[in-house]
Amino acid sequence: LYTTQTLVAEAVVDPGTGPAHYLVSVLRLGPGAEVVLFNGRDGEWRGRLVEATRKRATVRLDARTRAPAAEPGPHLVFAPIKKARLDFLVEKAVELGAARLTPVLTRHGVVDKVKTERLAATMTEAAEQCERLTVPQLDAPVRLAALLGAWPADTPLYAAIARDQNVAPWSRVVAEIAAGGTPPALLVGPEGGFSAEEVTLLNAHAAVRPVALGPRILRAETAALTLLAQWQAVAGS
Ligand code: SAM
Repeated sequence: LYTTQTLVAEAVVDPGTGPAHYLVSVLRLGPGAEVVLFNGRDGEWRGRLVEATRKRATVRLDARTRAPAAEPGPHLVFAPIKKARLDFLVEKAVELGAARLTPVLTRHGVVDKVKTERLAATMTEAAEQCERLTVPQLDAPVRLAALLGAWPADTPLYAAIARDQNVAPWSRVVAEIAAGGTPPALLVGPEGGFSAEEVTLLNAHAAVRPVALGPRILRAETAALTLLAQWQAVAGS
């Protein structure tokens, strides 16, 4: 929370995982320590801790070190996978510039409940680590049929479909769309793959563009990161 001169970092959900706890208990910083802050809205600031407990830290802001900047990036729609690999996927998606993440529930998905609070914390840490000024938007999980039902026909959704020899390779598609500059929306299925009905649903949607990621079957997180990394390599953002 910003006032004109003071930023108050408060543990919002669980004091054991909040930013004040991190400064005090993990980094073991006390009054006078220099810190760098961002809140996804006001750029990056250098400041000094004035007071700090595990639940609340007050920082005197000395200078703005980076102005706020838009960080446009791909929208990744992904079927949730199990805990450690999901954390990995989300962390790397933040590093690779995703601007929005949407968990999508599918027939063969092994995970039906997504701990969005934990994912949000992982995303914030990843943004800090890679020095982004924004944390991607994280949506509530949505069923694939509902997602497609609400998806606009004029917004392409590039869907990674395994085992289909007739779809365009992502490496070629990405080169074509990068010239337009608009970051793409991307869809990756669950470990069990899309069901036959889901593939039919995807193929019937005007916005869906199936893409292939090469001759091998990639794990879901590898597929998601391949989509993002190739976009970043070509688009440079
Ligand atoms: N069990 C599924 C099967 O046998 O088809 C494989 C699912 S794969 C582990 C998880 C997801 O990664 C897929 O739903 C798809 O979105 C994506 N994927 C993996 N390899 C791919 C490839 N070579 N081309 C396109 N998408 C791929």
